[in-house]
Amino acid sequence: MINKLLIANRGEIACRVIKTATTLGIKTVAVYSDADKNAMHVNMADEAIYLGASPSKESYLKAELIIEKSKELGVDAIHPGYGFLSENAKFATLCAENNIIFVGPPASAIEAMGSKSAAKKIMEDAGVPLVPGYHGDNQDESTLKAAADEMGYPVLLKAAAGGGGKGMRQVWSGSEFTQALNAAKRESMASFGDDHMLVEKYLTRPRHVEIQVFCDELGNGVYLFERDCSVQRRHQKIIEEAPAPNMSQEIREKMGEAAIKAAKAINYVGAGTVEFLLDEDGSFYFMEMNTRLQVEHPVTEMITNEDLVQWQLTVAEGKALPKTQQELVLSGHAFEARIYAEDPDNEFLPCTGTLNLLRPPVQTEVVRVDTGVREGDEVSVYYDPMIAKLVVWGESREIALKRLIHALNNYYIEGLSTNISFLKRVASHDAFQNAELTTTFIDKHSDSLFTSENERFSQSILPVMTLLTILKRPSHLSESDNSSAPWQKSGPWRCNSHHRETIDLLVKNEVISVTVTYSNDELLQIFKMQIGQNEFTVEGVVNENQIRTIVNGHRTSHVFSAVNGEYTLFNKDTHISFSVVPPSLGEEQNSDSDAALEAPMNGTIVALLVEPNAPVEKGQPILVMEAMKMEHTITAPQDGAVESFFYQPGELVDGGATLLSYQPKSAGNKED
Ligand code: ADP
Repeated sequence: MINKLLIANRGEIACRVIKTATTLGIKTVAVYSDADKNAMHVNMADEAIYLGASPSKESYLKAELIIEKSKELGVDAIHPGYGFLSENAKFATLCAENNIIFVGPPASAIEAMGSKSAAKKIMEDAGVPLVPGYHGDNQDESTLKAAADEMGYPVLLKAAAGGGGKGMRQVWSGSEFTQALNAAKRESMASFGDDHMLVEKYLTRPRHVEIQVFCDELGNGVYLFERDCSVQRRHQKIIEEAPAPNMSQEIREKMGEAAIKAAKAINYVGAGTVEFLLDEDGSFYFMEMNTRLQVEHPVTEMITNEDLVQWQLTVAEGKALPKTQQELVLSGHAFEARIYAEDPDNEFLPCTGTLNLLRPPVQTEVVRVDTGVREGDEVSVYYDPMIAKLVVWGESREIALKRLIHALNNYYIEGLSTNISFLKRVASHDAFQNAELTTTFIDKHSDSLFTSENERFSQSILPVMTLLTILKRPSHLSESDNSSAPWQKSGPWRCNSHHRETIDLLVKNEVISVTVTYSNDELLQIFKMQIGQNEFTVEGVVNENQIRTIVNGHRTSHVFSAVNGEYTLFNKDTHISFSVVPPSLGEEQNSDSDAALEAPMNGTIVALLVEPNAPVEKGQPILVMEAMKMEHTITAPQDGAVESFFYQPGELVDGGATLLSYQPKSAGNKED
């Protein structure tokens, strides 16, 4: 019997596990780091234990400390969630040695699947189909390259210890091999402390379909159908669904049985996922088995009406699986969209910041939001930037998809960039609606999924933005306010002799000038605005977080947020953040070539790729840094040369720090 459960994790998954444990009457213990002192999972648990500083190595990965605290508190089981210690065989062993139930498979099963190459050998022996490739121990570059040359390009280099798409590189020709291998090895070493690689034939248009399996200690095993996770960026899932569209009952059963075979081959116990690549001709290949609960498990819960965390706890207590294969029924269709703090238009660069406004859609029986953060919380550099998982269910794929889009339209976040607009574009895309899913979906449709700089805001929203800044002026809101904001001194509401002014809006690094003419009558509040060649007549009111406007006779309403002079307007398709440029700063904001040489976020320098003063071409990679466990390459803004690097590999840099000084070619020539 489990009476007290420690959750060795944080964020949404810790909250998710606590929820089920609590409904089962199990006492819960959370763990936390400095950054998570006031986190949601800490508040939700009955008790919480401090582990250490914010970097996971100093807190969430401290296996011995977690065991020691568990013993002190009389904890009888540990749920590892996903990530962190969830696939750490040593930790599972440590639990067993200390008579604590590890809510997961036996250490031997984790070990067997821990290395993608070792796993492939086991699966090969068990007769599970594999993607052609090299998964041997010889790691000489020449051996790996010879394997790639032989199977023919494109190939995929994969970290044997990999996960989360890290340490993975596509190679399209022999000439790219060495550079790709070095990058994949570096990323793998940084993320997993190991740079063993395998080489696989790269399938160009596969689907990612995975099977949820569950086994108990009594030898029973079932599969809870499949999930399609083909829509990915950087080999990481973005929208998952269950069941996989257009999956025939025959392939479902074949794949389900292959997954059970894989699990049985390693005497599996608990929740596991067997991932396959499904090719266009219906053949499928084993990719890997994840020996834990997956991020996307809620879609399976929605279509089976089962609580998988409850299943995990039941199995961990040594009991039989709650249902047999025949008793499991697949009903309806479910989607999960992962809401991330990131900038899709900037190569999905993770973002950090404060969630100044966080308004998820209303939760119902069919709309579920799994999250570990609240309004006002920080998305820090230390952990995965996922904010929430939005999960919806419908009687059919069509109904579920409509609900997904509706829920995304009613999801408001401000304070940092998110992928919500991008998710809406994916979900509304014809190809997605028609279930034309492959893992290259995002690349294939990039023209319509990403917004060009010009499209990001339509002209018609500029007057609304301008009006918002006017209506939110302290001088406008309260005549008695005498704050020293620069614009106030010339504000028309203070001094009636000014009837015209220019407001410079800073939108995505671009300054847009709006000339505003005020009517003489303050009470009327009608404004004339000139933006480039376009003229607008604008009126409107602000009410709490909503601005209602009439622009050239067209009536609209937008939700907005305004915090410390930073504004965000939300509308159906997108949201847009902006601020007002104080008059003296107008010129500086426009140059973005220096910005390219700044650290995009806090991180560590990994490699300097060119020698100082050596000529480099525009776009050539010059420096690699790592942040949030991903590599970011800084490229030359134009032809020229690096004068000097300000940091060396291994050094930490703050986001925004200038990384190097750069001499553009033309400027250099002048001195000649
Ligand atoms: P990770 O453990 O890092 O998530 P996986 O092995 O699960 O790595 O692969 C992640 C994704 O990479 C897959 O979902 C698929 O999109 C893509 N992928 C992996 N192997 C291949 C392959 N051989 N050919 C084409 N795509 C692949």
